[in-house]
Parts: sequence; C-alpha cells; structure tokens
Amino acid sequence: MTKRGLLVVISGFAGSGKGTICKELMRLHDQYAFSVSATTRDKRPGEVDGKDYFFITKERFEEMIANDELLEYAQYVSNFYGTPRKYVEEQLKQGKDVILEIECQGALHVKEIFPEAVLFFVMPPTVREIYNRLKKRGTETEEVIMKRMRRGQEEAEAIDRYDYLLVNDDLDETVQLLHETVCCARNAVERNAAFLSEIKSEFVSFFEEQKL
Ligand code: 5GP
Repeated sequence: MTKRGLLVVISGFAGSGKGTICKELMRLHDQYAFSVSATTRDKRPGEVDGKDYFFITKERFEEMIANDELLEYAQYVSNFYGTPRKYVEEQLKQGKDVILEIECQGALHVKEIFPEAVLFFVMPPTVREIYNRLKKRGTETEEVIMKRMRRGQEEAEAIDRYDYLLVNDDLDETVQLLHETVCCARNAVERNAAFLSEIKSEFVSFFEEQKL
C-alpha cells in the first residue's frame, strides 16, 4: 500500500523568503511535489508560466471556481490566487508530500477540509526586514509594497492557527528544519490511522493462524 502523502502549507509575509525556501526544499528532496497556483496577477520579470504560476484571466479564474477545479482560492491585494485541485489529489495519492505556498485565508480553509495538513508560517526576524526585502526586490511600486505590508499586519492575526513558525534568518537552516518537521509530522500517530489499523488486523490474523 502506498502511504498517502502529506499536505504541507507554507505561508509567510511578503518578502519572508518563503518562495526561496520552497525552491530549495524541492531541489534537495524528491519526496515533495510543488503545487503551481493559478493567478490573475501580472507576470514579474523572470517568472515562467506553468512553473511559477499559471497566469490566467479573471474570466478563466471564475470558470475554474464554477467548475470546482480549485481546492481553495483567495483574493490577495487586488488579484486572485487559487490551488488547482487535480494535481494535488494525484500527487497525494502517489505518496508525495505536496507543498502549497499560499496566503492565510486559503491556508486556514485547507486546514478545515484537510485537518491532517501541516501549516508553517515563515517570517523574517523583524518587520523592518520585511519592508527592506520588498524594496530590494524592486518589482512593486511603493503603493503596492505598503498594501502588502498592511496585509502582513492582518495576516499576523491568523498565525495563532498555524502549527509551526519558521523564522528565516539562515536559508539552509530553515530548509533543514522545515524538512525535519515534515518528516516528524508524517510519523505522528494521528496521521497513521490506516497503517495502525492494518497492524491490528495483522495481529488478529497472526493468532488465527496459530490456532490451526
Ligand atoms: P505573490 O503575488 O507575491 O506571488 O503572492 C501573493 C500571495 O499569494 C502570497 O502570500 C502567496 O503565498 C499567495 N498565494 C500564491 N498562490 C496562492 C494560492 O493558490 N492560493 C492562495 N490562497 N494564496 C496563494
């Protein structure tokens, strides 16, 4: 029996480095599959359609919602973002741990429909650092940066409902900690109900065989 994979949700303030963490995690370990989201936002320089996001129109996004093609979706600043359902379900079935890099609203919705999902929240050591990283990235106007900072303040209220914090000071250490925590989570008793019930029935069969 292939053990079903784990849903790993990674959220974090804009500029927290969560994108880099996910890329590094994927590069180092085969057990993960990255869910590419659909979005209505414009492509940033260097982003590739189908790899970073599926860049789609608002009409297509609405069609995906209507066809129940999205596992979850949310509005973030002035754009829509959503997780295509099919890929996630296929990968989980094949035993891959699926990474969803999504914002808080979507993350908390995922936790409701998949209580076994593990939720991580990535943050830089200070709020000033968030602002500095966004400025340094240079891909957004000051107005959008301020909107993202405001959204960060709102998101801070949702962190209580996450499972783990990741303070991203050193990339390698953060990625290692994330991977180790996922491995521990996979072995939690409450996530292994099917395996445990198999072991219990094997005991029953064992003693039945002894009687013969
Ligand atoms: P960005 O525009 O910086 O790529 O992403 C903005 C925010 O949207 C980030 O917090 C990112 O994690 C989140 N996001 C990306 N894809 C999804 C998704 O499929 N669903 C949800 N709910 N949020 C997403």
